[in-house]
Amino acid sequence: MRLIFLGPPGAGKGTIADIAKDAFSIPHISTGDLFRMHIRSETSLGKRVKQILAAGDLVPDSVTIEMVKERLAEDDASAGFILDGFPRTIPQAETLEKITHIDCALNFEAPREMIIKRLSGRRVAKQSGRIYHLEYNPPKVPGKCDLTGEPLIQRPDDTEEAIVNRLEVYQQQTAPLIDFYRSKGVLKDISATGTPEEIFQRTREAIE
Ligand code: ADP
Repeated sequence: MRLIFLGPPGAGKGTIADIAKDAFSIPHISTGDLFRMHIRSETSLGKRVKQILAAGDLVPDSVTIEMVKERLAEDDASAGFILDGFPRTIPQAETLEKITHIDCALNFEAPREMIIKRLSGRRVAKQSGRIYHLEYNPPKVPGKCDLTGEPLIQRPDDTEEAIVNRLEVYQQQTAPLIDFYRSKGVLKDISATGTPEEIFQRTREAIE
């Protein structure tokens, strides 16, 4: 199964992908996570994209496409994958068409106020990236990951200024992908309100 998760930042794509990857036994490939891994490891790619991510801007297509091509060529992606955060521009989508076939693009829809609440209250485990929310999904011990005890941090692009920019970038560059995939007959709209389990159920039904 080859899936694309579309939708604005804060719609909960990463949270749903985390559930779906286990349910469908396919890897969750998040370009945001891949970039953050490079930043943590201080690779040359990481150094190049650090400021871009912090500001909530998009990494240039050529850089992103190269990274995704390499990831999709790995063994575990041969039977399928969830692409989360890619494609984010029309040129990225056109390139993806040439690399592989997509079964379904899921468009997670969320109202703007909910997005801002979700992003500003989001906290992530420093190493693993596991996602929490101060209000909706708090850790058992404040500031610590339930699984590893590692500290929870706020992503540099979850500040109000970066959130506003990310939403604008989404509208301008990524929202056109909804029509791109709709016209190919593979788009399914999913309401991204409710609990992660409810949203995942809708996702599963839409795919089936
Ligand atoms: P969110 O969906 O919550 O905004 P992600 O973790 O998917 O966050 O992405 C974080 C950042 O990584 C983006 O704001 C952007 O800077 C960069 N990024 C991720 N995917 C892409 C992409 N496909 N093209 C360009 N930049 C990307």
